[in-house]
Amino acid sequence: MSKAIQAIRGMNDLLPEALSLWQRIEQVAETVLTAYGYREIRFPIIEKTELYKRSIGEVTDIVEKEMYTFEDRNGDSLTLRPEGTAGCVRAGVENGLLHNQVQRLWYAGPMFRHERPQKGRYRQFHQIGVEAFGIGTSDIDAELILVTARLWKLLGIRGLELQINSLGTPAARAGYRQVLVEYLRGHQEQLDEDSRRRLDGNPLRVLDSKNPAMQSLIAAAPSLHEHLDEESRRHFEQLCAYLQAANIPYRVNPRLVRGLDYYTRTVFEWVTSDLGAQGTVCAGGRYDGLVEILGGQATPAAGFALGLERLAELAALQKVAGAERRPQVYVAPLADGNVTQQGLMLAEQLRDAGLRVEMHCGSGSLKSQLKRADRSGARYALLLGANELAAAQVSVKNLRAEEPQQQIGLSEVSAFLQARLLAGAVQ
Ligand code: ATP
Ligand code: MG
Repeated sequence: MSKAIQAIRGMNDLLPEALSLWQRIEQVAETVLTAYGYREIRFPIIEKTELYKRSIGEVTDIVEKEMYTFEDRNGDSLTLRPEGTAGCVRAGVENGLLHNQVQRLWYAGPMFRHERPQKGRYRQFHQIGVEAFGIGTSDIDAELILVTARLWKLLGIRGLELQINSLGTPAARAGYRQVLVEYLRGHQEQLDEDSRRRLDGNPLRVLDSKNPAMQSLIAAAPSLHEHLDEESRRHFEQLCAYLQAANIPYRVNPRLVRGLDYYTRTVFEWVTSDLGAQGTVCAGGRYDGLVEILGGQATPAAGFALGLERLAELAALQKVAGAERRPQVYVAPLADGNVTQQGLMLAEQLRDAGLRVEMHCGSGSLKSQLKRADRSGARYALLLGANELAAAQVSVKNLRAEEPQQQIGLSEVSAFLQARLLAGAVQ
């Protein structure tokens, strides 16, 4: 036997067992997003490297050291998408979706970053991203937050804290930047290597450092809030008023900045303390300049991305139920040939009636078929013997409760199982 090939570090297989929770999250997310008028968009997983350099910013962790970049056979530099907003904006501009109109869009799928793999941080991970274009007022910022709050509520996820902040306009930020650089230069000896590098290119990123040794320096840094321009301040106050009216608790975190360059004004994160160091489950904000930077007409925009690995892990910790995918009925033909053929037909008939049915294929003894029936998670097994079938009967065995095995006529078995298994049926 040759040596088995293993997956790439930091890239996970998602197995059926774990996926039932993912599928539940995705289903509920789609329902919620549709209820707010958001429509799905799909765009490629690979784009020109230039797209990410231009949108995310050269002096960011992602562009400096996390991108999966390669040359294709034509010698073009391409990159696996590290996030979705850039591709979404590119697609929106290219297809004329953004000019002079309001667009509410969402997407889901894998993202790739060459980070140090650890709990809650992977090299292939998955996001649901949501973007709203063409609205400059804070009502849409509030709406995006309401979308997420409703999602947590419907999933039954508790204990997430909403943190919000405003980064102001690029002009106001430039003023703050000087004050911040002065402060940081005054404490040069406390800066770690990353922060020293960021000091020149992108000093605000120092505030986003995850290094524990930097936290007291960051906590004492001058606050961006005192440097907000008047309009950004009003925008932020209005957002706070909307959140209060909607009964969404929040905490203003003046040190909250986002890792990417393109954010303006509102930024927010949903954070939990239950997942250890990687506690941000969802992050977003406003990025009014990005569409123009990517070659479109200036268009205000806001959005967020939620990390499915972290959300699924939190949901699992809180015992959120996954989507029910197991069969309800297991059809066990106790002989080959004609009996199996009738079993296949009966299973079809039950699926026509709306039931999830697993057919036992590959023959086997009664004992081995019952063992598999039990493992499948089905509630009922239908046992098909040659003599019974000749009398147009099957045996119904309840696998989950003490109940005498019953013989039921072939023509009644659908109705019998529907009454016990379909939504609204008394359990
Ligand atoms: P962090 O500060 O944790 O590095 P980020 O600011 O880089 O996050 P965003 O680019 O805003 O993250 O992505 C939005 C969300 O996607 C994050 O809040 C997180 O839930 C998830 N996420 C980001 N990077 C990873 C990763 N490497 N592995 C798993 N999930 C991730
Ligand atoms: Mg990151």
